[in-house]
Amino acid sequence: MAGSFDEECDYLFKAVLIGDSAVGKSNLLSRISRNEFHLDSKPTIGVEFAYRNIKVGDKLIKAQIWDTAGQERFRAITSSYYRGALGALLVYDITRKNTFESVKKWLHELKEFGNPDMVIVLVGNKSDLAESRQVVVEDGHTLAQLEGLCFMETSAKQNINVEEAFLNMINKIHEITSKKSL
Ligand code: GDP
Repeated sequence: MAGSFDEECDYLFKAVLIGDSAVGKSNLLSRISRNEFHLDSKPTIGVEFAYRNIKVGDKLIKAQIWDTAGQERFRAITSSYYRGALGALLVYDITRKNTFESVKKWLHELKEFGNPDMVIVLVGNKSDLAESRQVVVEDGHTLAQLEGLCFMETSAKQNINVEEAFLNMINKIHEITSKKSL
């Protein structure tokens, strides 16, 4: 998909959101694409995606970001979800340790189905809920280092670091893609 051209942009990148249920994926997506947050988002079942245009240098990039929209609950995500994706935001919830423990399982899936060059950003979401924290920042850092991922804690609710995590991923994808097309 990288390098494909459409009328408005120089590159079209596909990226996916992945992680356990209720970690905040759909709210991260609505922040990235529409700058919205929903207290009681009720995801419909099925894959959904949204677009976000950004400028990197003099290039206009259109990011198509896919959300699992509840399918992860039924382990119904298939290889087509990952097909063509150049980036992934792998999300856990800092207030639920089990969602952090699942990160390895999601990484395994990404390695099995995803593009080997995929840029993966590990995202510890809900950083606003400090009083309920079950995963310390250092654990996120350590895992990311071990697996060679970028890492960031975010709050979709308070709009902290969401843009940074997304831009981090897009910039890295752009770096890799432009090297390849030289
Ligand atoms: P998904 O199943 O991974 O797509 O998760 P959702 O985006 O539907 O979020 C699950 C719940 O967590 C919802 O009630 C959201 O309002 C809440 N939520 C999502 N992100 C945050 C956050 O950064 N902080 C807090 N406090 N709640 C959040």
